[in-house]
Amino acid sequence: MKTFIISALISAMALSSTNAVSANDAHSNESVSPKNIIMIVGDGMGPAYTSAYRYFNDNPNTPQIEQTVFDRTLVGSSSTYPAPVSGYITDSAAAATALATGVKSYNDAIAVDVDKKPVLTVLEWAKTQGKKTGVVVTSQINHATPASYLAHNDFRRNYNAIADSYIDDGIKADVLLGGGWSYFIRKDRNLVDEFKLAGFHYIDKYSDLTNLPANKPVLGLFDKKGLPWALDDTNKHRLSLMTKAAIKQLENKQGYFMLIEASQVDWAGHGRDIAAAMTEMDDLAKTLEYLEEYVTKNPDTLVVLTADHSTGGLSIGRKTGASNKDIRSTYLWQPQILRTMSISPKAFATEFSKTELTIQQVNELLNFNISNDDMNELVKSKKMGVDSLNKYNSLSLSQQKNKWRPNVNGPILITIKNIIDKKTNTGWGSISSSGTHTAIDVPVFSFGAHSEKFKGFQDNTDIAKKIFTLLDKK
Ligand code: MG
Ligand code: ZN
Repeated sequence: MKTFIISALISAMALSSTNAVSANDAHSNESVSPKNIIMIVGDGMGPAYTSAYRYFNDNPNTPQIEQTVFDRTLVGSSSTYPAPVSGYITDSAAAATALATGVKSYNDAIAVDVDKKPVLTVLEWAKTQGKKTGVVVTSQINHATPASYLAHNDFRRNYNAIADSYIDDGIKADVLLGGGWSYFIRKDRNLVDEFKLAGFHYIDKYSDLTNLPANKPVLGLFDKKGLPWALDDTNKHRLSLMTKAAIKQLENKQGYFMLIEASQVDWAGHGRDIAAAMTEMDDLAKTLEYLEEYVTKNPDTLVVLTADHSTGGLSIGRKTGASNKDIRSTYLWQPQILRTMSISPKAFATEFSKTELTIQQVNELLNFNISNDDMNELVKSKKMGVDSLNKYNSLSLSQQKNKWRPNVNGPILITIKNIIDKKTNTGWGSISSSGTHTAIDVPVFSFGAHSEKFKGFQDNTDIAKKIFTLLDKK
């Protein structure tokens, strides 16, 4: 698979991937394809996330609930199930494969079908049609979603092999922005040097995004793996910052295809972390608002946003315990504290584990007040973490070998997230501390040229098929 060439792939698949777009979808003679196509994936962003964001974003000083950019641009919904071999619940790899190729595959597949054969992606096709292509994500750029547009691999966690293929299979993107330099600068291979040799401009700081050389391809890797949580990042709107810079690089006469991913909504869902989830959503909302303006000025651009699946079973409101007498008979979701937090629960847990903090210092750090009971819980969880670490340290080396080294932060992190869930009345649909994907249908948003194609209910594979049609794939 390593030395595989796009053109071979296209001829192999020319016969297989057209179909399934119904006759009235076939565009008429006078209809032109959009010049630019921007596909956005909110990883894990099921409908509960866009609804929660509406209330998070609400200005409590006005009587109305302000409409969000998601409310304005919603056009339909999509099913997300993978190939039958993986049941009804998809992972990000199979879902991105469906969105990128129009073919359903097994969970873990990166743009290969159930027989592990490579399938053409819309990004690859756009490139062969003479368009520029770009990928902008907040995960590492070789993570499942971007990889499914750029690479072909039978297993999503072959991170080094996927990164290698970004060079070895021929460079397919003119702009690559996100995290992941640890996969690109390795002992055995320096892919950044190879990109530079291929004419790429390499950057590793957000500040470098503002003065990129014109007409030069760009590789920007801003962290070791994924970017920090928006809550902790030096730029809380790094997705919109990267998007603006990428568009500037990509604009050209033939147009461009770009994939944008708000990668970490999913990670917040797995972590059952509503604070991180809402700020990742805010970064995506700002990106979408920018694109709304962009499309007004560039009406020959199509923007499509969907999620690959939902994560964590997020529920806006939850039934509280009988001990919580005041709230028991009332339905409430209270995102107030989320609006002012400026540290992620994870960064808070790290800080709390390192330092002896008073309740006042905790309140200042969190930007909201916790109760004495909450403080006791935090202290107790820290002690739990320290105790298990001490216990581990007292073991002999051979006894330690088969055990994970306990992390003092772990119990603190669980406790602070519980405190936040209690205060906001946020619920999660899983009993473990790591949330699951769910099979609920996801919303589809679209605006700009030919956005009417994405109206109503569709399957995730239809989204790729429609984009192929718009890219004139017969
Ligand atoms: Mg992803
Ligand atoms: Zn996930």
